[in-house]
This record gives sequence, structure tokens and C-alpha cells, in this order.
Amino acid sequence: MTEDKIDLIGLSLEEISETLINKGLIQSKEKFRSKQLWHWLYFRGETDFDKMTTVSKDLRKKLKDHFVIQRPKIKSHQISKDRTQKWLLELNDGNLIETVFIPEENRGTLCVSSQVGCTLNCKFCFTGTQKLVRNLTSSEIISQLLLAKDNLSDWPNGKDRKISNIVFMGMGEPLYNYENVKNAAEIMGDKEGIQLSTKRITLSTSGIVPEIIKWGNEVDSRLAISLHATNDELRNDIVPINKKFPLKDLIKACREYPRSKNSKRITFEYVMLKGVNDTAQDARKLVKLISGIPAKINLIPFNPWPNSPYECSSKEEIKKFSDIIKNAGYASPVRKTRGQDIMAACGQLKSSSIKIRKSELRANG
Ligand code: SAH
Ligand code: SF4
Repeated sequence: MTEDKIDLIGLSLEEISETLINKGLIQSKEKFRSKQLWHWLYFRGETDFDKMTTVSKDLRKKLKDHFVIQRPKIKSHQISKDRTQKWLLELNDGNLIETVFIPEENRGTLCVSSQVGCTLNCKFCFTGTQKLVRNLTSSEIISQLLLAKDNLSDWPNGKDRKISNIVFMGMGEPLYNYENVKNAAEIMGDKEGIQLSTKRITLSTSGIVPEIIKWGNEVDSRLAISLHATNDELRNDIVPINKKFPLKDLIKACREYPRSKNSKRITFEYVMLKGVNDTAQDARKLVKLISGIPAKINLIPFNPWPNSPYECSSKEEIKKFSDIIKNAGYASPVRKTRGQDIMAACGQLKSSSIKIRKSELRANG
């Protein structure tokens, strides 16, 4: 029965060693055996103990008795006309999450979820309207990558890998699931396993200041801040967590962020909302607000969803906005909207909408 068995995915190498020793499967001088197992799990992506040929037959049998290597179930898989792919995944408890793969010319980015839904209610974000919320386990976070690699035939990890970048920009606020996201990010960057460069792992947050500081001290990755407004009044309205962590504190944390140098500049994300935050004055205020921070500003065209309360700024407004930022010396790429035809674009993920609609119907009699 799988229920009594331990899920191997999501444990650190150290934890695997400890567990194997505690269960009497290996001796403490045999830690190299857990390294071999690690190599199968995270370098080769093997899910079948019987195929782990460098592990002795005896140990393979014992591993099967005590552990499982699980992948979430694929509920649906959609491919957009621009080749963006979206997987709707069913977790063990029936909850659903989404993972998106965005292929580009010189890289492939996987956008992973950190929670089922999100407790924060940013006004422009579809995920924020989802009622069901829970944190994902480390296993559920890292499994999104493993499953996508299975599907894209991206094993073993070589130079020409299809998934080269990870962004924590799927469903949820990653810093409200700090430990599990940290464990998953560390496994993604591990030099003996998945071997992703930490420069290619980006954590995106709506601005949970104490955790930003902690993350900066503990984890090596890139940081993206969902800024979206340059004054507290507007940010309180569209990113309500700002009431708890106002701009002054957020910008201070960014200024002091230990890795905001050179190749690890902070990215400020700014969603372009027509008539809300998109004037030339807003652009100038933005430049002033972040002056001195090694940064790039990512302008995201607003992606609409059913009955969303906003419209996207016009192309001309976005160009004007971006020019002001560029003239101030910042890189200011406008993010290409990808996968919109399959609702896979930024802020459009809301996987259990169908379930909620059903229960709402029931509630309404
Ligand atoms: N919760 C984290 C990460 C997930 S959201 C965060 O807020 O940063 C990833 C990015 O998509 C964020 O910058 C978010 O503000 C943005 N976003 C949300 N809804 C959007 C929408 N409808 N259109 C464009 N971007 C959106
Ligand atoms: Fe949550 Fe991020 Fe959406 Fe805000 S933008 S509701 S923090 S997922």
C-alpha cells in the first residue's frame, strides 16, 4: 500500500541518507548509496526502482518496500498555437494545480505553482479569486518540473536541456510557503541532480518583506518583485498585501537584498492596466522609486480573464512607458503574452474553477 510508504521526491540528499540509515537499509558509512539513488531520481528522472541498475538488487527491493516515487496525475494537457504547454495536474487529495512550459528560441521556461490558489487578492489576478487554498509540499513543487521533463523527454540532464529556466510565477505566493519552496529550489539547483543554474531560477513575490530578507540570506536565486504601482494608495488597492508591507519597507528590502548585483539584478514586474497605472508620470515615479537598485523592469501586458475588472493599456501607452524607463538606463522588456488561447498566460491560472462553480451551484440550491 502506497499510503504507508515514504515519498522520496522532495527530500534533501541529507534526509534521504538519514531515512535510509534509520530504516536500516544502509549503514552510515554507505552514504554514497543515497547519492546513487539521488542520481537516478534527479539526473536521470527514473521512477522505477527496478531500472536503477547501479543499486544492488537487494537494496532495490527494500527501497520498493519503503518508498514511492510519485508523479502527479495529468488531468489535461494543452498546447497553444505558440507552442506554450499547460498541464492541469491532480494531486493526491484531488486538488488541482497548473504548470506552464514556455519555449523560446534560446531557452525554455517552466512556470511552477507554489500553492493551490492564493490567499492574496490582487485585483487583476485570476488565481486570487480561487477559494480553495493550501500550500504545496516540496514533492508537489519539484514534481511539476519532473513531470514536465518526463513529458518533454528532457532526461538525462545535459547541455541541450529543454527546460533551462524556472520561474515561481504560477499559482500562489511562494514566500507564504517558504520552507517547501526553498527545499524545491535547492533541489532544482543541486549540482549532482537537476543542475539548474541558480541564475536561472526566479522567485516572484507580491512583496512579503520579512521573507524576502530571509530568502536573500538563505537561498541563491533571482528575485522578482510584483510592484505594479508606485504609490501606497494605488498599491493598497490592487496589491492589498501592501497594507501590511508598504512600499517604503519593500523598496528598503530590495535595496538591501544581498544578491541584487550584476547577473542577479532584481526584476520589477509591472502589469500594464489601462487608465490605472500606465501614465508617463507613473513611469517617471517608478524610475525614481527604484533608483540605485541594480534592476530590470518587466512590463507585463494585462492578461484578461472572464469578467476581469481591467483592460490592458494600449500598445502606444506601453511603448511610451517603456521608453521612459529605457531612457533612465534600465532594461525594460515588455513581456510577450504566451499561451493566451489556452489560458496559460500570467495571472490566468485558476485550476479548480469548475469545482468551485459546481459547489456554488449546490450552495445556491
Ligand atoms: N504570487 C506571486 C507569483 C505568481 S503571479 C506574485 O504575485 O509575484 C506571477 C506574476 O503575474 C506576478 O507579477 C503577478 O502580479 C502577475 N499577474 C497576475 N495576474 C496577471 C494578469 N491578469 N495579467 C498579467 N500579469 C498578471
Ligand atoms: Fe496571489 Fe500573485 Fe495572484 Fe497576487 S498576483 S493573487 S500574490 S498569485
